[in-house]
Amino acid sequence: MACRAARPFRVLVDMDGVLADFEGGLLRGFLASYPGDPHIELTERRGFSAREQYRCLREDLGDKAASVYESPGFFLGLDPIPAAIEAIQEMVQMPNTDVFICTSPLRRYEYCIPEKYSWIEKHLGPGFVERLILTRDKTVVSADLLFDDKDVVTGVEPNPSWEHILFSCCHNRHLKLQTPQRRLESWTDDWRAILESKRSR
Ligand SMILES: [Mg+2]
Repeated sequence: MACRAARPFRVLVDMDGVLADFEGGLLRGFLASYPGDPHIELTERRGFSAREQYRCLREDLGDKAASVYESPGFFLGLDPIPAAIEAIQEMVQMPNTDVFICTSPLRRYEYCIPEKYSWIEKHLGPGFVERLILTRDKTVVSADLLFDDKDVVTGVEPNPSWEHILFSCCHNRHLKLQTPQRRLESWTDDWRAILESKRSR
């Protein structure tokens, strides 16, 4: 009987806060659109939802923050996270490794979805568009690793197949990890060691 070869190692990489600098873009856009209003410095960001933190600062500011990231051009204009593009290009060349971008679009998806595709093509090339997975529920996507800046990634699947590596971002830096959760501080940190340790388990 023929043995089926083991499938390649599979890595999911989130987009906002991991590849694309959502938080930096939001602050820049907020300052440009609402210069007379109070804002939240990146060092003061707490909690995954920027809209929620702005709303707590002042009731009307939540919707103003959302208007920034719901505007045309916002997602396409985001800067890459430092060293992210180089890391993904290296990762995809690794033998026996499949890399996918796994991102949750906004509920107001009108501009967000096409601009996410355009951003990937602009920064990683047209071939990478094939690797883009859009889902509001990452728990139903199977993989070995998920790099994501959201502190808790939940969905309908209570036991996702991937190990969630928390990617450090301004809103999660202060959080204590739930053991045995692992963290990647940045793409200049040793992401290769995380892949290798997971492969050998
Ligand atoms: Mg994210």
